Amino acid sequence: MRKHEQPAWQPLEQTVPAEVFLAEVNYWARRLEVTPREVRLQYMKRKWASCSTRGRLTFCTELLRQPAAFRREVIVHELLHLKLGHGSHGKLFRALMQAYLNQ
Ligand SMILES: [Zn+2]
Repeated sequence: MRKHEQPAWQPLEQTVPAEVFLAEVNYWARRLEVTPREVRLQYMKRKWASCSTRGRLTFCTELLRQPAAFRREVIVHELLHLKLGHGSHGKLFRALMQAYLNQ
């Protein structure tokens, strides 16, 4: 998921530790019924997250300082790629994004 419009300044209180973020990823992986082969946190200049063809997810460390709703959006987006395949951002992808984020 590419970085385009970065949200502006975020209050410090929204920063979460890496363990909390990884727990969020685990939580959503269970809900989406997918199993990432590996989950990593690593700074990336142009992307919030990426998903390798082998099922390895990488999340940008800057996500730790983003609002919870945005973190959730990025997490669900990448996990959906494990479910639906890479490069799929079509109708089904968008419908499932909405379904998971609005419940
Ligand atoms: Zn994507």
